[in-house]
Amino acid sequence: MTKTIGLTGGIGSGKTTIAHYFQSKGIPIYIADDEARIIMQSEAIIEAIKNSFGKDLFENNVLNRQKLAEIVFNDADQLKRLNGIVHPAVKNHFKEWLQTKSHCQFIIYESAVLFENDSYKNFDYIIAVTAPLEERIQRVIARDATTREQIQQRIVAQWTDEQRVSKSDYVIENSNLETAKRKVDEILKILEIKQKES
Ligand code: ATP
Repeated sequence: MTKTIGLTGGIGSGKTTIAHYFQSKGIPIYIADDEARIIMQSEAIIEAIKNSFGKDLFENNVLNRQKLAEIVFNDADQLKRLNGIVHPAVKNHFKEWLQTKSHCQFIIYESAVLFENDSYKNFDYIIAVTAPLEERIQRVIARDATTREQIQQRIVAQWTDEQRVSKSDYVIENSNLETAKRKVDEILKILEIKQKES
């Protein structure tokens, strides 16, 4: 049976980069944020967001994601409300996707908030990706049109590295990418041995 691996880490830790390395090793990856972005364009979700957050967030039926982000990352209750709409839809979509991977030994589900929304319980293993906070901030500033303040708002809404590490099965320290990749190789070897033994 396919073993499901939840891959998590704070903003800018390098989760997606590491997920793609797993993919290069033949492991299917599900990037929850990317899938959520697509799902949020569906009629049902657009309607639910309109009902909860108002029509002003839409221009020609297209969601202004920046405006929505400003609302939810400034208000924990609003973030909870949005997650209540988006997470169940992603969960269903992932369930269907997983059924198409039943021939695979492992799959990776990548999300920043596996612990925050309790979904870590749905996976066989959890891997945390960590990196020094300032490095994470600098990476995101270099990658996105964003500000330090906006990044910090997201960091505050997420668990700390220490919290994630304490509840994870494996940890990938991603300061140096080559070292992080070797750690992935190591973890995969361990998981393959476990699979053979079970
Ligand atoms: P987010 O939570 O914002 O989606 P993430 O944890 O998925 O972020 P990535 O998108 O993988 O992080 O990485 C953030 C940026 O840092 C990217 O531009 C990526 O190329 C870069 N990056 C990832 N790992 C390293 C590393 N070890 N050294 C330097 N840059 C890195």
